[in-house]
Amino acid sequence: MKKMSIGLKIMLWFALIVTIIVSITYGIIFSIEYNIVHKGIKDTLIQTVQNNLDEFEYYKSTDNIEINKVDHIINYEKGYLKISATFLQHINEVYTALYKEDKTLIYGENPISKEISSLTFTDSVIQEMKIDGTIYYIFDKKIPLDDIDNLWLRGIVSEEQGNKQVESIVKLSLIVFPLIICFSLIGGYIIVKKMLSPIHKISTTAKQIGNDGELKKRIDIGVGNDELHELAGSFNEMLDKLENNFLKEQQFISDASHELRTPLSVILAQSQLSLEKDKTVDEYKKDFEIIARQSQNMSKLINDMLDFTRLEIQSEKYKKEKINLSELTNSICMDLKLIKEKNITLSFDVKQNLFINGNYELLSRLLINLINNAYKYGNQNGNIFVNLTNTNNQITLLVQDDGIGIKKEDQEKIFDRFYQVDSSHSGLGAGLGLSMVYEIVQFHNGKIKVESEFGKGSKFYIFFQKI
Ligand code: ADP
Repeated sequence: MKKMSIGLKIMLWFALIVTIIVSITYGIIFSIEYNIVHKGIKDTLIQTVQNNLDEFEYYKSTDNIEINKVDHIINYEKGYLKISATFLQHINEVYTALYKEDKTLIYGENPISKEISSLTFTDSVIQEMKIDGTIYYIFDKKIPLDDIDNLWLRGIVSEEQGNKQVESIVKLSLIVFPLIICFSLIGGYIIVKKMLSPIHKISTTAKQIGNDGELKKRIDIGVGNDELHELAGSFNEMLDKLENNFLKEQQFISDASHELRTPLSVILAQSQLSLEKDKTVDEYKKDFEIIARQSQNMSKLINDMLDFTRLEIQSEKYKKEKINLSELTNSICMDLKLIKEKNITLSFDVKQNLFINGNYELLSRLLINLINNAYKYGNQNGNIFVNLTNTNNQITLLVQDDGIGIKKEDQEKIFDRFYQVDSSHSGLGAGLGLSMVYEIVQFHNGKIKVESEFGKGSKFYIFFQKI
């Protein structure tokens, strides 16, 4: 079976539900209408008969009769029966007729007089009779006159009347019913189409990205705050991240190959040179020293790059636990104090028992990188000061040196990968140390700040959340 679109499915369900609702509504309306109409017919019958009851007067002689030109006077028994002109023998489809108790018709109309000629008069009761498939309601009332008590008023109405009214409603609904369904389907179609258009856009963009690998594309479905706009927003956010990561990866690969190319070219050139002519052992030794130093450089660089990539891409592999940062700082400072480089003195002041939720290996790496930099970029006979304190819930780590310092314009770039202000100072470094520190701080939801004055020294502050 051909794949059915969501829009069509929604429309079909919508049409089905509208049809069911409209049918039920009509069903209810018809049954209420039917009952009301039939009750109405009976009420009209009773009302008409009762209204006509007062239209009769009986006189024993003509002396007292006040005769109006339009009234009817009938000789009845030994007197006269006056039927007022306001007597209505046919109104609202109700026929009213005056009968003698022996069923002789005296006055008025009765469309089924033959068929009901034998029907006994029953006071104030509606009787039902089916004649030629039509139901008739008959209502009798004895006429309350002083001198005679054998006169009856009979009202007759056919059920057809009610049916005619219901039929006209049915006819009207047969036109209105399909119209309601048509309008709701057209309305539904417009709404569904409008609602689904963002989904269509999302899917087209996703396909384009899939086909062309064009990560720069974004979904534009205009302004709004419904679920679809939220979905498009999440989709765009995901694309932002993907594009960002992709660019980072590209940059990383190009930086890394660039960085590896230098030591590799030196090694190749040096080996070539050594092979070209015979040399003394001392000369060979010197060549090998250069090759070994460059190999060391490469090895350090590769290790740094691997660590960095591991932290940046698979940071979930590093588990966090409760770490006594004071103990860790103390022990690293004690170890690094032993470095006798440039006759620099490392001193430290660590407030005891400050705990954070972190990773031991990464925090060690952070401290070592910062202190190593302070040695690397420190001056002869210089000083390094490490301080760990807290204010309320915030722990502050400070690594301070009185070394070469960093120019203002370089301060924001030093955390970028492979950035080096002056590579002649960095020895084995490749500009990954501080970017690693930055990633470690991010991993611990901390903040990093640098304060430095060129020629005077630098202060690296790191802020952690205390637990
Ligand atoms: P590397 O030290 O390998 O060059 P880093 O990422 O550790 O790379 O540092 C980047 C740059 O920041 C360094 O090249 C250096 O110029 C500067 N820098 C880092 N730490 C200090 C410091 N304590 N004093 C002066 N400059 C520093």
